Amino acid sequence: MNVVLYPALEFRSPDFDLIYAALDDFSPTAIEEDAGCLRAFFASSAGRDAAFRALGDRFAATPVDVPDEDWARRSQENLPPITVGRITIYTSATSRRERHLANHPPTSNPDARIPNPDATPLVIVPSMGFGTGHHATTRLCLAALQDIDLQGRSVLDVGTGSGVLAIAARLLGAAAATGIDIDPDAVQAARDNLRHNPDATRVEFACLDLVDLRGEPVDVVTANLTGALLIRSAAALLDRARPGGILILSGVLADERDAVAAAFAGATILRTSQEGEWVGLTVKKS
Ligand code: SAH
Repeated sequence: MNVVLYPALEFRSPDFDLIYAALDDFSPTAIEEDAGCLRAFFASSAGRDAAFRALGDRFAATPVDVPDEDWARRSQENLPPITVGRITIYTSATSRRERHLANHPPTSNPDARIPNPDATPLVIVPSMGFGTGHHATTRLCLAALQDIDLQGRSVLDVGTGSGVLAIAARLLGAAAATGIDIDPDAVQAARDNLRHNPDATRVEFACLDLVDLRGEPVDVVTANLTGALLIRSAAALLDRARPGGILILSGVLADERDAVAAAFAGATILRTSQEGEWVGLTVKKS
């Protein structure tokens, strides 16, 4: 079996706060603390080496390559909070980095999104379920949800993953939200997340393939899937919205946008947004 190695720097210093501040300039993907040792992970060896050149002497850092199969889950425990408009997503482990970022806004790290003290907190438990807010498509959907009037609306979140969009919709004023996912682990994660967000009442999750969706059409459908799946499922998704209802679509690459828009040709495009290579579309059913 191939062991995956993650480039990291290890620090043993009495003042982790200073190290956190210094690391902000080097976009670590995760930071762990364990028994007096702080480990910062980087997306590439080159990124790690650049940080080592800048900080190695000052903080007595050691470059290491960490083999760890469970890294993905544990790394989520130290993800920085993400703020999109009126929502800030925190992972459930309140890390020192999180507290640090709240008090010391980074100046040069565009990936570290500073929590807005007035934003509504949304807690996501680290898991493999997609949807911590650290992917552009989730952020595009979160922004699109805040662009429409959700007050009193019913919301269906198709491909709910961690449940983040269903929970956010409810925290933003929707009357009720249902999230469905084909993956039972995602549904379990979404239900766990509900327990960490006690204000998100009237949110339910079910394990279901979108083709099997039935029942009353809703006011707002969110679907952060893939371009191909959206195209294939356009009729089923449109069927789930009431006439005049809104569909928020993402998971679409920029070069898939026209094909997705064509698949939803019966609806009016209200908004297109883009972050990097990812596109979000808000459409209104006729
Ligand atoms: N809504 C979350 C997660 C999006 S990831 C967010 O915005 O961050 C897309 C999710 O769609 C995955 O959890 C995947 O399991 C689910 N999915 C894929 N195909 C599906 C289908 N046919 N029916 C229902 N869910 C599906």
